[in-house]
Amino acid sequence: MLKPSKYPAFEIGHMIIEKNGKMCGCGQKGCFEAYSSMKALKDNIRKKIGITKNISGKEALQIIKDNTEEVKDIISEFIFNLSIGIRNLSEIFAPEVVSIGGSLAYYEEVFLTDLQKKVEKSNLYYTPKIVVAEFKNDAGLIGSTIK
Ligand SMILES: [Zn+2]
Repeated sequence: MLKPSKYPAFEIGHMIIEKNGKMCGCGQKGCFEAYSSMKALKDNIRKKIGITKNISGKEALQIIKDNTEEVKDIISEFIFNLSIGIRNLSEIFAPEVVSIGGSLAYYEEVFLTDLQKKVEKSNLYYTPKIVVAEFKNDAGLIGSTIK
């Protein structure tokens, strides 16, 4: 039954990837979003570097570039968790391409190559090509990620 205040369309962010995992904003534990969203990435970077205030995506990217070794494990874990979600979806929908939109699209140099490798390694039958949405952060707004 749908909760009256929440009528989600296709909320893949709330598929569970970790039993009894991190608390998600939806009230469940272990959601894909709790591990693989930009908020999760930024929060983990902030905590690692010791920053108490929220940071923008642009600031997080600069921190990654300036502190590559220090945040290496966070990036690696983020990519691994993202690969789990993509793998799960790939086994269900068998897409030819998975397009990453939103603010993560600006992090292509940080994640894309490793993400493609991890998805290739974990998928059972085939691997979708992973690309960055052409319209980047506006992809969801426009409703299209590839021309
Ligand atoms: Zn959730």
